[in-house]
Amino acid sequence: MKAIIIGAGIGGLAAAASLRQVGVDAEVYERAGELRPAGSALSLSINARTALRTLGIELDVERRGSVYHRLDFRTARGRRIRRVPFGHIGERLGAQNVAIHRADLQQALLEHLDATAVRLGATATGFQVDADGVRVDFAAGGVARGDVLIGADGFHSVIRRQLVGPEEAREPGYVCWLATVPFRHPTVTDGYCAHYWGRGQRFGLVDIGGGRIYWWGTRNVPDARGWAGGKDEILRAYAGWAPEVRAAIAATPAAAIISVPAQDRPFLEQWGTGPVTLLGDAAHPMLPSLAQGAAQAVEDAVVLAHHLGDAADADRALRGYEAERRERARLMVDGSFALSRVEQLDRPVASLLRNLYMRFVPRSVLDGRNEAAMTFDARPPAVHDHGH
Ligand SMILES: Cc1cc2nc3c(=O)[nH]c(=O)nc-3n(C[C@H](O)[C@H](O)[C@H](O)COP(=O)(O)OP(=O)(O)OC[C@H]3O[C@@H](n4cnc5c(N)ncnc54)[C@H](O)[C@@H]3O)c2cc1C
Repeated sequence: MKAIIIGAGIGGLAAAASLRQVGVDAEVYERAGELRPAGSALSLSINARTALRTLGIELDVERRGSVYHRLDFRTARGRRIRRVPFGHIGERLGAQNVAIHRADLQQALLEHLDATAVRLGATATGFQVDADGVRVDFAAGGVARGDVLIGADGFHSVIRRQLVGPEEAREPGYVCWLATVPFRHPTVTDGYCAHYWGRGQRFGLVDIGGGRIYWWGTRNVPDARGWAGGKDEILRAYAGWAPEVRAAIAATPAAAIISVPAQDRPFLEQWGTGPVTLLGDAAHPMLPSLAQGAAQAVEDAVVLAHHLGDAADADRALRGYEAERRERARLMVDGSFALSRVEQLDRPVASLLRNLYMRFVPRSVLDGRNEAAMTFDARPPAVHDHGH
């Protein structure tokens, strides 16, 4: 069996690595001319790692990033509201959360691929299904053929657009700023991971190893998509915040700061038809609040491989994959959306109540939620779809 994967983001690369493990030949087509990761760094949650492990893929990420055992919630001025530990959950589940630069994660995934698996500078424009399988057309004129097509082409997926038509993005009204930068500060120790909560505005500060940090900021604005301010405006937005927050922004070259509007899409019930399916942000884009977008793309990749490996009927295997993933992905999309509303509260009383809730919510409640999000529920593939 041969799979065509469109997009070499975390989802597409994880899919290629996963399919390789089950003997499916996978070709990845990426529009970028080089593999340059967008979006700085991320938290790679435990579930992504334990999912890959079901296929025998051990991602070498501890060495490349920074393991973090806890997340501190802080006020804008830096006072700790609550420390939420994860280390004990990681011990139970057999892996830990890792904060990692996207380039380093990409490298870790590429080590599980054949060098020839990724074709760069190939922008897919559409597909056609015929008796021999599926054909993908590219902007430069070439075509690719395969038995199945996996659209891992992100938020603005052309594969999704051809499947479901044009859609409006859902925009909750805030902008996200992201950056990685070499940074040292007495507060930011190894494994530091903190979220600072202001009113209608937040900041995340995370150690990613090698003397580097990853920071992100969010702010409610009238037109998140059209936001065109620069570093000075961001610095002004964080005036009066904790010294490490202001120092991190100040230490970052203006050109290294990425700004993206917060956006997702209403949940899509059907991700594919015939030999075509979607994966990752193309299937279920979510707001960043649960920090699970990439991890869910990896879970998709692994479950897809569970279903496609030695499947007698590829179309049926794709429907089995979609069915197995649907409810978990929905939980993450809806959960991120709901959490983001609370996190971005800007009225004084409401944001104070939010902080009080976070301070006093029982540890068992937080543990329960975190453990559910970080658990990949591995089901043996043979029960699902081999047509018998
Ligand atoms: C502010 C922010 C913070 C986040 N933090 C986290 C976090 O901490 N943890 C986490 O797990 N997730 C996080 N996420 C989510 C995560 O970044 C995404 O869910 C994840 O990157 C999705 O991966 P993907 O491979 O599906 O899509 P993408 O990473 O978007 O990759 C799609 C790829 O397809 C290519 N492509 C697009 N169109 C075409 C075409 N027509 N032809 C060929 N190639 C094409 C693109 O160039 C790209 O390389 C965050 C997101 C944001 C916005």
